[in-house]
Amino acid sequence: MSNVKKVLIVGGGIGGLATAIALQKAGIQTEIVEKQKEWNVYGVGIILQSNALRAIDALGLMEEFLAVGTTHSALHIRDSQGNMIFDAPIHPSGKFNMTGGIPRRDLHDILLRTALNHGTNIRMGTTVEVIESAANFVYTTFTDGTSGTYDLVIGADGVRSKVRNMVFGEIEPNFVGQAVWRYTLERPKDIENITMYYGQKAKAGIVPMTKDSAYVFIVTAEPGNPWKPEDQLHVLMREAFNEFGGLIAELSEQISNPKEVVYRPLETLIVEKPWYRDRVILIGDSAHATVPHLAQGAAIAIEDALVLAELLQTDAPLPDILNQFMERRFERCKFIVENSNKLVNWELLQLEGRLPRENNPNAIVAQSLMKMTEAI
Ligand SMILES: Cc1cc2nc3c(=O)[nH]c(=O)nc-3n(C[C@H](O)[C@H](O)[C@H](O)COP(=O)(O)OP(=O)(O)OC[C@H]3O[C@@H](n4cnc5c(N)ncnc54)[C@H](O)[C@@H]3O)c2cc1C
Repeated sequence: MSNVKKVLIVGGGIGGLATAIALQKAGIQTEIVEKQKEWNVYGVGIILQSNALRAIDALGLMEEFLAVGTTHSALHIRDSQGNMIFDAPIHPSGKFNMTGGIPRRDLHDILLRTALNHGTNIRMGTTVEVIESAANFVYTTFTDGTSGTYDLVIGADGVRSKVRNMVFGEIEPNFVGQAVWRYTLERPKDIENITMYYGQKAKAGIVPMTKDSAYVFIVTAEPGNPWKPEDQLHVLMREAFNEFGGLIAELSEQISNPKEVVYRPLETLIVEKPWYRDRVILIGDSAHATVPHLAQGAAIAIEDALVLAELLQTDAPLPDILNQFMERRFERCKFIVENSNKLVNWELLQLEGRLPRENNPNAIVAQSLMKMTEAI
């Protein structure tokens, strides 16, 4: 058993809550500070690739996931008019030869409930103000006027991480030139699996999330990251589907409420290794934020949680543990960030008609997802 007995986790998102669960299960006391006063997880869903399902299972949450979410046994790739291009196999991770879909709010509820049941303490509307590592502990003060000492502080506070900026200096994410639009609707009959549609200007898709619901998405080029009027998001999202026909075009006609359109300019970031300084470490998007082209961001955040919790159960000195964490996580996460960025660049080149013939996006997706089936 390591000397780490008490851990502060900054940020109660997917990575922070997964870490709290894994550490509490290992007998390590955790406390989360979350800057939002109330949970405000946005609508629409999330894809859990087979390695994400494996990680959810390792947290002991497969039953909870299956009670709400849905699974897919194939990935269909079609052209803009719905003609089949090919069916991509799902590479199995352990016993999971499927992908999953679930509304983000439900995934968050499952993680939150489980973290609380395991005894984590969560303080809402609070963040860190000072972080000072001493030889045997970290001293922190908080915005609610309190202070504390911990054996380890974990920055799980997302792509605009305050912990990262306090401990590592300013490292900003990069806008990649694309954005994604998403909208929840009733699950169409006969849509069992994630179905993607490749147009000339955009890439769209349907993702089943539950028995009854799905979301449609479309990825568009947005040079210069233009501002979008919030009350027009539904009109703009529908317009983005102009070149599409068939089912996806029919579904896009249901996009009617601007408040339910989730529009996100896409950003990316990889912090150079190591992701720790003294007794402070970054995990999840604060260390490696990726665009969703491989749908791996949440997967690798949960994997970070599992690996860190596993290592913290050994009695090795903390620097060795953190080093081993980097050995197991850095290349894998960097691979995802870089291959996702490659897909963005190829899609932008394709838009300009300049994508070299030998660059095959489907091959890189398949290779990347195959790699993620390797043991963590
Ligand atoms: C458009 C889009 C689609 C995506 N789709 C998928 C997908 O289909 N599959 C997939 O696996 N991944 C997907 N991802 C990636 C995934 O959402 C992220 O990788 C994942 O949420 C990372 O978890 P996290 O806990 O590191 O960060 P977050 O989920 O961002 O959580 C960070 C938490 O920290 C809190 N916080 C922030 N600052 C502070 C602070 N100073 N103090 C305290 N708390 C703070 C936030 O309020 C939040 O609760 C997608 C990402 C995007 C942008």
